[in-house]
Amino acid sequence: MEYFPLFMRLKKRTVLVIGGGEIATRKVQLLLNSGARIRVIAPQISSQLGKLHQHGNIEWLARDYVQGDVDSCTLVIAATNSRDINKQVALEAQWKNIEVNVVDDPSISSVVLPAIVDRSPLVIAVSSSGGSPVLSRLLRARLESMIPSRYGLLAELAKKFRDQVKQRFSSARERRQFWEQILDGPAAEQMLAGHTKAAQRIIEKALNDPDTLSKTGEVFLVGAGPGDPDLLTFRALRLMQKCDIVLYDRLVSDDILSLVRREAQKIYVGKARSDHALPQEEINEFLLREAKSGKRVLRLKGGDPFVFGRGGEEIMRLAEEGIPFQVVPSVTAANGCGAYAGIPLTHRDFAQSCTFVTGHTKDGKLDLNWSQLAQNNQTIVFYMGLANVKALSENLIAHGLNGDTPAAVVQNGTRPNQLVRVSTVAKLADDAADLSIKVPSLIFVGHTVSLREKLAWF
Ligand code: SAH
Repeated sequence: MEYFPLFMRLKKRTVLVIGGGEIATRKVQLLLNSGARIRVIAPQISSQLGKLHQHGNIEWLARDYVQGDVDSCTLVIAATNSRDINKQVALEAQWKNIEVNVVDDPSISSVVLPAIVDRSPLVIAVSSSGGSPVLSRLLRARLESMIPSRYGLLAELAKKFRDQVKQRFSSARERRQFWEQILDGPAAEQMLAGHTKAAQRIIEKALNDPDTLSKTGEVFLVGAGPGDPDLLTFRALRLMQKCDIVLYDRLVSDDILSLVRREAQKIYVGKARSDHALPQEEINEFLLREAKSGKRVLRLKGGDPFVFGRGGEEIMRLAEEGIPFQVVPSVTAANGCGAYAGIPLTHRDFAQSCTFVTGHTKDGKLDLNWSQLAQNNQTIVFYMGLANVKALSENLIAHGLNGDTPAAVVQNGTRPNQLVRVSTVAKLADDAADLSIKVPSLIFVGHTVSLREKLAWF
């Protein structure tokens, strides 16, 4: 290792930054997080540094560097645009055994500054030993997206209970097992959701009776979005990768399913219009039973779980039985298809509202508020409506909507095989007659549809 990673306490210690340009500014902004006393030496400084100086956050000596400046500093950053000055600073600092970083010149630096993922008190530092700061930053971006923003709070939680856990378990192995279950189980999930008290209660309960940990399962009701895996939320992906078992619908694309933890048991529960692989009541009971047996159960649903998804029914039993669960929202089909088809749902020239309605019949009837749906200046999105497209159009026209109003069907929205058929309300049934009703499709009605002509991009 060319540079050994260490974490340095800089609080109230002096860090000297020579130079006042853009790079110096970035370093100062980073160093301010450490609580260091920052002294900048430069004849001129950037406007951001000027503001920091005005607000008393940094000290500024408006002059060139002179020998002796580095004395009594803990760390020196040479960030001028002159190689010679940077070198003089480095030599002086090294001669006096003061750590020094020269921007863009690791060969004369005793320390390099890493790319930082800050989840204080948890901090991750990434370094390429000065070889490629861009590579370090790219890796940092990946880590940022993988690590929940509240992850650091877990370290605080662990600190709070450390002594109690030590007293409770005499062997290091028992303590390790306990912490593994806590930091990767329901207590951690509560903490990440911002419920500190609930997390503490779980730990207190587990300290009294450690068996409760292996007995408490949890359910994640997660929206998988309309199909493109890149539209998943960070949280969805994280929970997908930590479940023991997953129940998924027909709408969940294979690309998304392949992101679920490989070892997890995968159960298809259907839900096509006429393909109820598992009746709803059985799904509800299944979730309850598996969670009660201590498993982490992922219920993965297409789109958003609370938009025409019956997600509310699925967690009702869990709520009644006190099983921990969380609901992860997602891009619903109307948003996803609107964006990927170039139909801005509420473009203000054409629509002041947008309505999501089901086009699915109940007991053979389309029981909708037609006079409201037939109004102009809105976008209507029909879910599950393709089988009834003729009746939808006829009802809209019968209630006063102009038959020339633009309308479109979007099938397999956001997926590589997305298909968009643009028509009008009067002609849609004929124009879409060849489309399979088995493929997930939305019907859009309203003048916003005409914007697709210019905005289609996918
Ligand atoms: N909870 C889901 C909707 C479930 S109802 C959501 O929020 O999107 C199922 C209906 O959603 C399908 O019949 C279809 O109308 C629509 N749908 C879901 N994914 C779709 C997609 N990728 N393209 C077009 N329509 C889709």
